[in-house]
Amino acid sequence: MSQKTSFAGQLIAWQKRHGRRNLPWQGTNDPYRIWVAEIMLQQTQVATAIPYYQRFVRRFPDLASLAMAPLQDVLALWAGLGYYTRARNLHRAASQVEQESKGQFPRDFAALKALPGVGRSTAAAIAAAAFGERQAILDGNVKRVLTRCFAIAGDPADRAVENQLWELAEKLLPEREIVVYTQALMDLGATVCTPNNPACGLCPLAARCQARARDLVAFLPAPRPRKTLPERELTLPLVVAAGNVLLEQRPPTGIWGGLWSLPELSADTSAATMLAPILRMGAVAPQPLPVIRHRLTHFRLLLHPVLYRLDQPLMALGEPGRAWFSKTALTRIGMPTPIAKLLRGVL
Ligand code: SF4
Repeated sequence: MSQKTSFAGQLIAWQKRHGRRNLPWQGTNDPYRIWVAEIMLQQTQVATAIPYYQRFVRRFPDLASLAMAPLQDVLALWAGLGYYTRARNLHRAASQVEQESKGQFPRDFAALKALPGVGRSTAAAIAAAAFGERQAILDGNVKRVLTRCFAIAGDPADRAVENQLWELAEKLLPEREIVVYTQALMDLGATVCTPNNPACGLCPLAARCQARARDLVAFLPAPRPRKTLPERELTLPLVVAAGNVLLEQRPPTGIWGGLWSLPELSADTSAATMLAPILRMGAVAPQPLPVIRHRLTHFRLLLHPVLYRLDQPLMALGEPGRAWFSKTALTRIGMPTPIAKLLRGVL
């Protein structure tokens, strides 16, 4: 089959005419910037990621600046993007490269794949864009395009189906123009072969698409079997004193790792115990606030914030890892999105 009529050839030709060309991380082959963009795009749509990416590379223009920054600064810039493990991994990887490789960013797929937070598809995307390496990518968008175009049944997250897709992705790689091809796959999945109502009429693969020919577009990729997520309930004391709020830094791993959040009451600590010193000094009656529901990857959170307003001067609550923050200081720290939203309504 000629390059022109092959799967890759059709995508490459389409990308040159209709693909995205002005994304802020395009037009560079700086692996550091491409890496930052790819990590952001792992769980975030392009339009949302753009302003975050721009702020991030303005503040941390290179690996050294990221490695030297306190983790809190990185988390603060990430606030609102969610999936904070990505930010922690970026920071960890930068420090690792600075220390172990004297700041020399990995120069090939295998070395990229060894970085914290970089899986096979992300390593391939960076290696292709930065070094023109011929590697297959297989992110969620590409899985959707391939399962539809080749009418592949089964859940793409299932190991056997995923292996089949990797094999196919490898087989379809063109000999040349890998950068354009990789971008074409991403662009097609994001802008044409979208999860709902794909624009098949505009698709360069329409004539060869088996899902389209067999009227299976709405059924592919096969939906993931629904799992009922377990629920965790937490009571969060929201202590406000003279315009300042009491926050607690979360442990570095686990949910919202490293972020500043409201103190969390463990099963055996009541708010009264935790707040005994200030309650003795005459805090106004606690005021339960509306329940917040928040979904995380593996469970749902049911948060019960309780507001304690104090007019007493600030005082320490005797726990390491807790601190008072003014409204202005809150803009400089990383906080989970639902907590930041809650504070905006209270302070
Ligand atoms: S024809 Fe439609 S379903 Fe098939 S790959 Fe193109 S956009 Fe996707």
